[in-house]
Amino acid sequence: MLHPEISGNKWRKLKYVLRHALSEDARGLLTFGGAYSNHLHALAAAGRQLELATAGIVRGEADSINNPTLSDASAWGMALEFVDRRQYRLRHTQAYLTQLAYRYPGYHIVPEGGSCPLALPGVAELWQELPPSDELILPVASGGTLAGLLSARPAGTRLRGYAVLKGKGWLAETVHQLYPPADGDSGWQLRLDHHGGGYAKCSAADRIAIAQLSGELRVPLEPVYSGKALLGLFRDIAAGCYTPGSRLIFLHTGGLQGARSG
Ligand SMILES: *Cc1c(COP(=O)(O)O)cnc(C)c1O
Repeated sequence: MLHPEISGNKWRKLKYVLRHALSEDARGLLTFGGAYSNHLHALAAAGRQLELATAGIVRGEADSINNPTLSDASAWGMALEFVDRRQYRLRHTQAYLTQLAYRYPGYHIVPEGGSCPLALPGVAELWQELPPSDELILPVASGGTLAGLLSARPAGTRLRGYAVLKGKGWLAETVHQLYPPADGDSGWQLRLDHHGGGYAKCSAADRIAIAQLSGELRVPLEPVYSGKALLGLFRDIAAGCYTPGSRLIFLHTGGLQGARSG
């Protein structure tokens, strides 16, 4: 509800990235994402508002340009470049980034999902809007939101992140890279078994369960992030993973645009 187009956690992650790009007079912003990426969508909207050029490297086929996410991004002026999975995998490598910097001179490059050190302070500001709680629960993908929350975690509040992708073995490391852990830091935990088969995968039964939850709570949910994580939370509560009587806050990270059908 932060903004009609620059949704939820993506707005928070972009805040200081955009400020930085403006302060260094960047010619534009370049980033990476899948064909339904909330991040690409948010960055394109922000670029249009700030009159900054935007470019998106998209994993997928050029015909996905007709889907609601990418047609918005394109209508807002984002230049889209489609690459196959193999090429997309190079997005963290220096050689590819150097090549992109050459082809898009003066553009500020933002990593996938907007998760970079500059994303943390914008996310950390979220705490100021929250009442005290024992645990804050959120969906996790590229880890920037969790890292940002960790960077300003009140001592009495634990964080539990529900991985929406198969993150076993590397997701905690990604979070640590963004926010190096202090000694003995045990104030957070990743739940890795509620990904439902992988990123953007969701069984028919889970889809129905999410739609039911959404109806009961009267909160719009989508199956990729908020719905999947909230379902995981309710299952964990039923399984006794939470202390009875504790005060939980579930962070709705936005992203409803990604659930529009074409
Ligand atoms: C991107 C996104 C997430 C994941 O946030 P990360 O910082 O990448 O872990 C969660 N929810 C929604 C709606 C998103 O768009």
